[in-house]
Amino acid sequence: MLFSDLGLGSEVLRAIEDKGYTTPTPIQEQAIPWVLQGRDVLGCAQTGTGKTAGFTLPMIDILASGRARARMPRSLILEPTRELAAQVADSFDMYGKYHKLNMALLIGGEQFGEQVKKLDRGVDVLIATPGRLIDLIERGNIMLNDIKILVIDEADRMLDMGFIPDIERIVGFLPKMRQTLFFSATMPPEIRRLADAFLMNPREVTVAPPASPAKTVTQALCVVHEDDKRKALRHLLRTEDVKNAFIFCNRKRDIAVLQKSLVSHGFNAGALHGDMVQSKRTETLEAFKKGEITLLVCSDVAARGLDVQGLSHVFNFDVPINAEDYVHRIGRTGRAGRSGRAFTIATPDDGKQVGAIGKLIGHDVPMIAIDGLENPPFDEEGGRDRRRRRGGRGGKDEGREPRREGRGGRGRDRDRGERSERPERVEREAVEPVAAEPAYQPRAEAPRRDRDFDRDRDRDRSRGGRDRDRRRREDDDDVPVVGFGDHMPAFMQRLARPRPAPAPEPGQEG
Ligand code: AMP
Repeated sequence: MLFSDLGLGSEVLRAIEDKGYTTPTPIQEQAIPWVLQGRDVLGCAQTGTGKTAGFTLPMIDILASGRARARMPRSLILEPTRELAAQVADSFDMYGKYHKLNMALLIGGEQFGEQVKKLDRGVDVLIATPGRLIDLIERGNIMLNDIKILVIDEADRMLDMGFIPDIERIVGFLPKMRQTLFFSATMPPEIRRLADAFLMNPREVTVAPPASPAKTVTQALCVVHEDDKRKALRHLLRTEDVKNAFIFCNRKRDIAVLQKSLVSHGFNAGALHGDMVQSKRTETLEAFKKGEITLLVCSDVAARGLDVQGLSHVFNFDVPINAEDYVHRIGRTGRAGRSGRAFTIATPDDGKQVGAIGKLIGHDVPMIAIDGLENPPFDEEGGRDRRRRRGGRGGKDEGREPRREGRGGRGRDRDRGERSERPERVEREAVEPVAAEPAYQPRAEAPRRDRDFDRDRDRDRSRGGRDRDRRRREDDDDVPVVGFGDHMPAFMQRLARPRPAPAPEPGQEG
């Protein structure tokens, strides 16, 4: 199949040719004709499949006729993170270069002034993160009653980040007669119900689940004591042929510590997380893409969707709390048919999470040993509340480094757990590439909220700070998953079992 078989206009085809694409990807092949026919589309596809072009190319064609009025955008694309929103805006610029469409990017962390000026001029395509969009709606800077096409991208990520109440609110401002394109990497029941509520008689298009990008990723896991994690990372960085790498931490506060430590050991490392001001985030990402920074210590803000060509390595400095995040993290490398390597540094306490990853991807991640470091087995009670361990006794570490919080794991009763064997020593070459083929499994239970998050939220609410709460969620890409938060979305109440819905808390939406 060729792009010209899909019904796209000549200018769009020219832009595709300039970009060097020869054939459409499966999601493009399936979705583009339906979008051009004006149908709603429910796309089950993750980033890396070419889904952005799957919706932007036909949108450009559709929007080519007609003109936008001031403050009344004609199409809206909702993205969970600023980086993804900026990436989609780049795609619009690229694919729409032979059209005269006006585009505005509304993301948090940027000045309102410029964004409002753009809206005043009239925009054909509005790309936004939910929090900033609601701010502008509330200030009266924007009206959504002329929206003809709505795209909800990365819906499962929106759910994870607690944006669903905002999305419901935004959709409430839109005309009922519109075309809706809804994309999600996974389709848990909550997302399916949301799609049912937002879409009308959609065409469903599905492409291979996260298996594809990871097929070319060689994975390995080492288990070391908490206090040895940085040594283990440095060893891997020195012995692997690292061109550039994402190094994932679970918590923002650990990112700066690790980045400084790496710099002090002579590595060229930057940091990326949701608490950084937007200009710094953009600047850091650009520097990384240009190769000025080779290691990027980051939160899961970088795990979803960021498209850095030719990333050679991913390191999980912490085992991700949710197994699905493992797949997204390692999927940053091994893209577009290139090979990539992904290493996970676990501690004896991570047995439960490591087990969940193995279950999700259908096999154990091969274990390696790190020369010169003890490689303890997993503790049997590896899944206990990690927070209880924080602030405990620290083990010995190299004096120069800031000491990491937490128990070292040494001297504890090392009962043998499920995966208790000592890892075999595996030479670098001996680690076979393994395909990660995760079948989606809904989370058994909503992860616990972070106590700080709850405390801050309560404080914000008591100041009447609901907006701040929302903005915080937008920025806090690595706060633990909050799902629907305390909000019970309208569509869920309709489908709920016959049990009285809880009374809304004072100050809550709904
Ligand atoms: P996405 O899933 O939209 O994030 O796209 C992932 C990568 O695939 C991006 O770098 C796109 O530029 C690239 N891409 C999208 N469509 C095609 C295509 N038809 N042929 C080759 N590369 C593509």
